[in-house]
Amino acid sequence: MHVSHRPLPRLKLLTFSFLAWTSIHTAYASNVLERDIAIIGGGASGVYAALRLREMNHSFAIVEERDHFGGHVSTYTVPGTETHIDYGAQGFGGDEDSIRRFFGYYDIPLVRVKLAEVGFGKTRYVDFKTSTELPDFRPDQNISVLAREVYKYPELSLNTALPSPLPEDLALTFRDFVTKYGIESSVFSIYFQTEGLGDLLSKPTLYVFKYLNPAYLDGQLPTSPGFFVTERAFNQEVYLRAQADFGASALVSSRVVAAQRNDSRVVLVVKTPTRTQTIVARKLLVTMPPTLANMRPLDLDAREHGLFSRFEAQGWYVGLVNATGFVAGHEFINAAAAHSQFHLPQLPALYQISPTRVEGIHLVRYGSPSYMTESDVRADIVRTVDRVRRAVVPNAASLPSVELLAFSSHWPFSLRVSASDMAGGFYTRLDALQGHRSTWYTGATFSSTTASHVWNFTERLLPRVFE
Ligand SMILES: Cc1cc2nc3c(=O)[nH]c(=O)nc-3n(C[C@H](O)[C@H](O)[C@H](O)COP(=O)(O)OP(=O)(O)OC[C@H]3O[C@@H](n4cnc5c(N)ncnc54)[C@H](O)[C@@H]3O)c2cc1C
Repeated sequence: MHVSHRPLPRLKLLTFSFLAWTSIHTAYASNVLERDIAIIGGGASGVYAALRLREMNHSFAIVEERDHFGGHVSTYTVPGTETHIDYGAQGFGGDEDSIRRFFGYYDIPLVRVKLAEVGFGKTRYVDFKTSTELPDFRPDQNISVLAREVYKYPELSLNTALPSPLPEDLALTFRDFVTKYGIESSVFSIYFQTEGLGDLLSKPTLYVFKYLNPAYLDGQLPTSPGFFVTERAFNQEVYLRAQADFGASALVSSRVVAAQRNDSRVVLVVKTPTRTQTIVARKLLVTMPPTLANMRPLDLDAREHGLFSRFEAQGWYVGLVNATGFVAGHEFINAAAAHSQFHLPQLPALYQISPTRVEGIHLVRYGSPSYMTESDVRADIVRTVDRVRRAVVPNAASLPSVELLAFSSHWPFSLRVSASDMAGGFYTRLDALQGHRSTWYTGATFSSTTASHVWNFTERLLPRVFE
């Protein structure tokens, strides 16, 4: 690994607030990590980037706000056993090279599974709000009309900039797209396959196409060899190995509190659990979701602020509950009893209660159209599982209480802008931000929510960073 011995740069004080300047100045004098590149975010794109940059002989440090790497991956290990349950990201499809390269760094064995073979169990539709089971509800699973339109844009999920001129369909609300193509009967299936998108019908169709992209759709075909999953069902293993491997270059439970960036240098002041750490780097790679709240400490200029302030997000939350009594192998999906609005439940709500490889432990996924506190989500999950159990399990009142074993918040998920921002060239301007003030960007916001697209995008970006 290359560690730079260049003399430390003199800070040029530009538009700093006095507070930011003071903290940078104080920390800078005492505690400095010099690196070729600083990476913010230790999830899919941040860890992939670090591993590739190390191969390219560049030194790095990663700043991650959680106490562990992994981003949207979450694995629970049943206490006292070697049994793992993945309750965040499940399987990986799309760019096979990047998937194999990423897990190959730490020799994590992968196996391929066909979607049809890993279903969550026998599906039962229940209105989670009214506790009414809908025994006759059979949503149309045929999404071929949508797929036909998605395949017209094979590059959409691999790039930030949108096709020009912007195709009208991408900026339609999904409600209008549904009406235009007459696919009302499959709306529920599309909604269920785009968990985390919040209020699906009001979203620009672009975000549905990016989610249900060709790689995702291909993986569902009966002819597909299927998705990759980790053989030990331990998706987090690769991240834990990387975190240990990176040593002092992995700054977890840490956040950037002030920064200075110009065309030749980046200085970050990072609050870690034990100290204030300064990182001086030639480049910065931002991989966390670039919401205004996340980006603000980076000393934004007007151009950056004008872009990041446009993003809105929704919440996706996942967990595992200990709840006995449910019939083994049965999965419960939330569907509104009312026929209006395609049986879509009103969010915030639980999407599903699904069996796992351990009897009695169920996977739960919850969606919210806007920010919610984690304690409110946790409480609503437990309440809802209890309510559904009372509806479908005889004598449920005598069973042990529902217990939340594991929980992970994925707010902010799937950053979006309005259709008019899209039409006004937002994504062209976002794409043009690459390299501005020595700062580069990767992650789901710049490609798609499919992890292999994020890795593929990162793979193509990195050679440009040190050109
Ligand atoms: C519940 C769920 C299930 C999914 N399932 C799949 C799946 O099965 N297959 C698939 O291909 N994709 C799946 N995805 C999507 C996929 O995981 C993402 O596309 C991928 O993780 C995106 O990578 P990223 O690096 O952009 O973001 P992340 O992996 O989320 O990494 C971003 C990192 O930045 C950190 N961070 C955030 N804010 C800050 C801050 N202010 N300072 C420092 N660090 C910060 C976060 O903690 C996180 O670790 C799933 C997503 C979710 C939410």
